[in-house]
Amino acid sequence: MSVTASRRTEESSIEPLVEAFMQRVVAQSPGEVEFHQAVREVARSVMPLVQSKKAYRDAKVLDRLVVPENVYMFRVVWTDDAGEVRVNRGYRVQMSSLLGPYKGGLRFHPSVNLGVLKFLAFEQVFKNSLTTLLLGGGKGGSDFDPKGRSDGEVMRFCQSFMSCLFRHIGSEIDVPAGDIGVGGREIGFLFGQYRKLTHRFDGALTGKNVAWGGSNLRPEATGYGSVYFANDMLSTRGESVKGKTATVSGSGNVAQYTVEKLNTLGAKVVTMSDSNGTIVDPDGIDAEKLAWVMELKNVRRGRISEYANQFRGAQYLPGKRPWAVPCDLAFPSATQNEIEEEDARTLVRNGCYCVSEGANMPSHADAVEVFLDAKILYGPGKAANAGGVAVSGLEMNQNAGCMRRSREDVDAQLKTIMHSIHENCVAYGRENGFVNYVNGANAAAFVKVADAMVQQGYV
Ligand code: NDP
Repeated sequence: MSVTASRRTEESSIEPLVEAFMQRVVAQSPGEVEFHQAVREVARSVMPLVQSKKAYRDAKVLDRLVVPENVYMFRVVWTDDAGEVRVNRGYRVQMSSLLGPYKGGLRFHPSVNLGVLKFLAFEQVFKNSLTTLLLGGGKGGSDFDPKGRSDGEVMRFCQSFMSCLFRHIGSEIDVPAGDIGVGGREIGFLFGQYRKLTHRFDGALTGKNVAWGGSNLRPEATGYGSVYFANDMLSTRGESVKGKTATVSGSGNVAQYTVEKLNTLGAKVVTMSDSNGTIVDPDGIDAEKLAWVMELKNVRRGRISEYANQFRGAQYLPGKRPWAVPCDLAFPSATQNEIEEEDARTLVRNGCYCVSEGANMPSHADAVEVFLDAKILYGPGKAANAGGVAVSGLEMNQNAGCMRRSREDVDAQLKTIMHSIHENCVAYGRENGFVNYVNGANAAAFVKVADAMVQQGYV
């Protein structure tokens, strides 16, 4: 029987159980479509484990894992530069503290709602379990859009947001970090307000500036880690990223450092994007061009379309994603569901055989099926992008020990952690000579969380 056929047979025997479980989840959380998508994927991977272990069934591990321990929702009021009062929604979803303090980023984007944050918090629980560090899972944010806002407006928003959030976080309780729309500038404003309100200087946030408690290599960690994970996947076929052509989506934090590491390791990156469109540069986005992109996005806060005016030979494709551009490797690094089924088919048809997800859940469920059926090297976000939270975990350790590790030291630890995540995915995901990294990541992460749930009792 082929790998695909055997996967389908196993799936068909557990599908009724998954469906019954999902009906309960959907009834409990109507309309939260991204959350349902993330839960269904995990349920499909781990249902055989749940069925095989009575202790998991008795403890109702799956039913408990889909209900957050706490959810805080609050009103964030601030004034814009014209003096007009603005109102946004703020959230913090504390999903699980089984393995450590709640840990996960804050996202500021107009698309943020409770369902999106529950999906991200749920994914985070599994991702953090994979890192081997003592980290629970959470996520938070707001529907505030920092794009086009002045530094003063962003600061006032962050201060108002933290005025509500500070009661619920702390270095041993819940440690937020950045995500879409929350970078070094926002973490600075949030930390300043936390410090003022609590009268404490502690590691209640990660992604801080290195000069006041941040870790070396934290900004780079998610992008670098995603490339290390791709290299580990390629090594199972005796290959590496060197000499390969890569497409990258996004042009924010994760995308920038993905491109940087791919360049360093000898790959050629031919695309970057933002929510308005994609630039294609057949000559490659080399270090000099990347430095220009970083200045454009991080300092001038401009749009990626400007790249095509700056560099000869580059083309801007308004409204398009990068996936029709032929490549060996793809690094989706922008947002959820940015690869749909047809995009996945196009990627595979054009020769792409390795996808490493810098973003969280960037591939739609149908696209994931295409990758698994084609048996390409497909690294899901909760494994491939865990480098960011791993270095955040190292930042927490450094803050607790009042010490700082060198760049080289952190990079070595990041590589070791990504390598161990890869090994774990292989150990749990091997299916007739093929590694199903989706099942591998979900099962490896789940066992640790579920065992902790059983051992810590019915709380
Ligand atoms: P940034 O805000 O720095 O960059 C986000 C990039 O994605 C921007 O180029 C943005 O374009 C683009 N983007 C955002 N929303 C959309 C959309 N709806 N459609 C198309 N493009 C979009 O965020 P990060 O780089 O930090 O995060 C990127 C992804 O990586 C997210 O999925 C995040 O959850 C994930 N991640 C981040 C980690 C981190 O350490 N920062 C850790 C692990 C995962 P535009 O400027 O037009 O909005």
